[in-house]
Amino acid sequence: MFSYAAEFLSIILLILLVAHYYDPMRIQSPFGRRYWQCLVVTGASMALNGACVLTIAYSDRVPLWLNMLLNTVYFAIAYLMAEVFTLYLLEKLMAHVYEPSCLRRAKAITRGTLAALLALLLINIPTGVIFYFDDARQYCRGPANAVGYSQAVVAVGLLVICYCRNRASVDKGMRRVIRLGIPMVGALIVFQRLNQHILLNGTIAVCLAILLFLNFQTEKIDRDTLTGLRNRRSFLLEAEDALKEQRPIQILSVSLCQFSAINLSFGYQRGDEVLYHIARWLEQTFGRSGRVFRMGPVTFLVELPYSGEAEAARCVAAVQQRFSQPWELGKREHLVEAKVMELLITQAGDFTTPWLIECLEYGKRLLKRGGRDYLRFDDAAAAALSRRRYLTSFLQRSIEEGRIQVWYQPVYCTADRKFCSAEALVRLQDEYGAFISPAEFIPLAEESGLIEGINRQVMEKVCDLLERGLPGTLQGVSINLSMRQLSYPDFARDLFDLMQGKGIPVERLLLEITERMLISEDDAVRENFDQLARLDFRFFLDDFGTGYSNFSGVLQFPFTTIKLDKSLIKDLEEEKRRTSVEVLIDLFHRTGFEVVAEGIETEEQAEQLTAIGVDYLQGFYFARPMPEGELIRFMEKNS
Ligand code: C2E
Ligand code: CA
Ligand code: CA
Repeated sequence: MFSYAAEFLSIILLILLVAHYYDPMRIQSPFGRRYWQCLVVTGASMALNGACVLTIAYSDRVPLWLNMLLNTVYFAIAYLMAEVFTLYLLEKLMAHVYEPSCLRRAKAITRGTLAALLALLLINIPTGVIFYFDDARQYCRGPANAVGYSQAVVAVGLLVICYCRNRASVDKGMRRVIRLGIPMVGALIVFQRLNQHILLNGTIAVCLAILLFLNFQTEKIDRDTLTGLRNRRSFLLEAEDALKEQRPIQILSVSLCQFSAINLSFGYQRGDEVLYHIARWLEQTFGRSGRVFRMGPVTFLVELPYSGEAEAARCVAAVQQRFSQPWELGKREHLVEAKVMELLITQAGDFTTPWLIECLEYGKRLLKRGGRDYLRFDDAAAAALSRRRYLTSFLQRSIEEGRIQVWYQPVYCTADRKFCSAEALVRLQDEYGAFISPAEFIPLAEESGLIEGINRQVMEKVCDLLERGLPGTLQGVSINLSMRQLSYPDFARDLFDLMQGKGIPVERLLLEITERMLISEDDAVRENFDQLARLDFRFFLDDFGTGYSNFSGVLQFPFTTIKLDKSLIKDLEEEKRRTSVEVLIDLFHRTGFEVVAEGIETEEQAEQLTAIGVDYLQGFYFARPMPEGELIRFMEKNS
């Protein structure tokens, strides 16, 4: 009676497990598939067990061969069931062990055991060593009936050996399963041996399946699956609490650098392995006093209670010290570079969770850009971030409300002694009328994608001026192209159509490009460049001398004119400088380029550069950038 009740209950539990677990997506993952196999084989084993119990009960009416066949298949399935559970446990145990040989050997041993048992089952048919039917067609146990339990013994032995050999890589869930599962299965087997009239195989398997399900197959929404650390979602909830309770905390964000190099050189499995070890070290070092999170693929975050500067500095030093050492995995060592950002929340009320996340992201970016490996997110960084936020939303509003202005700075031609072109420069005033420097908002607009809106308004305003006609002696207007514009595949075509539509000749618009854009690997940039050159647009290479430029780069693209950056123009009174600028200009002239000198602020500079032979001069000495109306008046006076 007890046997039936146990099996019946186990079947119900199994049905519940199957119904709850079944999901085609889940079954596609390696562990999901293996677990599914455990459930299917357990179900098959229990169904066959039921069938065997029935056919044995009515053995006088059931042909002997059918009874024999059903029981043989039942034994085979029971062995298979033990095999898949063992494989699942071994694979889980070794999930974070990179060296595959140990798992491979363990699997070979379990498969060997299974093969031996199946062979014995075949031998059983003529010999009856496992079971047989006597003359009265009654089921009888053979001398080797309990041989199947050898699988459990082999499995436990292998699990213990593998565990001892790879203790450092075994995760918490697996340790729990070993601690609970081995005694549980052991106790059930002993109970079964003492009470041979009841059959508990199915019950044992279902109990194990439930244990595995609870430990591994329930997705924990607040945990990262690879490292077992709390995930980003969990951090957001925790941070909310910490901020509400106004506990002083220290946050360390640890970002690994060039981690993809490990993935590419040694494979993703190895990369995962290193991440797992780093996570474990962080958890062991900081897990007791604080909490460790995996915030992104290669970013960890440690949240610690803040208890003074000395302790805070000690924590930072511990991370830096550890990352200066390699991570030893099997026979290999990996040195992983990490950038650490420290953020202290010691004053009440300053922070909200979204702001905290923004600070972390921004800090990461500052670290990346600055080439440093440690940053304390201080008041200055917070102020810079606030300014960025303000600027981004202000830029957005300004674009929507059409408040982007274009000013023009006339460019002087030394040969004709006239102003022959003007550079269009974008201008933006804040709510109080103060000008915000394009050097500040252009890079921000490029990052946020707002540059497109700005560019469009600049282009429209410049084309409107060209359509109305340029004042005085001006022959053309130059505009500064942004990287974003040049990477837009249809840019060349759109610009050409816009100008054709307004009847503006191509030579009226000059395009200024910095060499930084040309180093880009974007094919679209090169494509636009070539297409615009074919349409007879003229290109100026802007900011020559700022560090990006080199002569071979200049020759690769169809520039007509080079603009020397203002940094080259200052200190011309120094002999060495003057000579190098002279040589440079001579070199450009000999190779067929015209040269503009930017940033002319004094009469002396203008005279010296004219004497050297510069073709065009631009700078505050001649004219500052001015609005369109002023440009018209300026040109009336200076033509
Ligand atoms: P840039 O293309 O090198 O522009 C020349 C900058 O030098 C302008 O600064 C101009 O006001 C300044 N300048 C002119 N003469 C002198 C001088 O004698 N002394 C000094 N110290 N500076 C002088 P601005 O207008 O602040 O523009 C800064 C940068 O912003 C520009 O450098 C350009 O890279 C970018 N920019 C400006 N307008 C646009 C635009 O419409 N689109 C794009 N993509 N970038 C723009
Ligand atoms: Ca320029
Ligand atoms: Ca420039």
